[in-house]
Amino acid sequence: MCGIICYVGEKKAIPILIDGLKRLEYRGYDSAGVAILDGEDLWCRKQEGKIAGLEMEINGIHSDASIGIGHTRWATHGVPSQINAHPHFDMGQNSAMVHNGIIENYGQLKESLAADGVRFESETDSEVLVQLIGKFYNGDLAFAIRQALQLVQGTFG
Ligand code: GLU
Repeated sequence: MCGIICYVGEKKAIPILIDGLKRLEYRGYDSAGVAILDGEDLWCRKQEGKIAGLEMEINGIHSDASIGIGHTRWATHGVPSQINAHPHFDMGQNSAMVHNGIIENYGQLKESLAADGVRFESETDSEVLVQLIGKFYNGDLAFAIRQALQLVQGTFG
């Protein structure tokens, strides 16, 4: 079962996210990743395998950013890999998302988004959700999420 941790606060986000992901390791996972909002910059690191590998990569990054999300993935759709690890982004790179669960109607939604010109990076069902959010985003994130959630069927945290 996957794990999710998010942080918004005064402290540096990266150590808090890594510590949170380590605490979730007992649930089992095949890959892990974080996305950080660093000023105007939204960046992401993800890795197949153990959190220690992700930690080693991130240790070289000095960032005071205090907003971020992290995820340990237990693959249901798409092989365990760096590309399929979460977070996923919308095509405009405005939103990063981690997801727990299964989007049951992802095939149909993916086809329709692809027909509108949306390019997908991963094989996951999850990416459909963030791409939908990106499609509906007009500056109001809550609105975009509400619209997207009306279209998806399945389980989603
Ligand atoms: N269904 C999603 C995937 O395969 C999320 C799996 C999970 O909950 O970790 O990427």
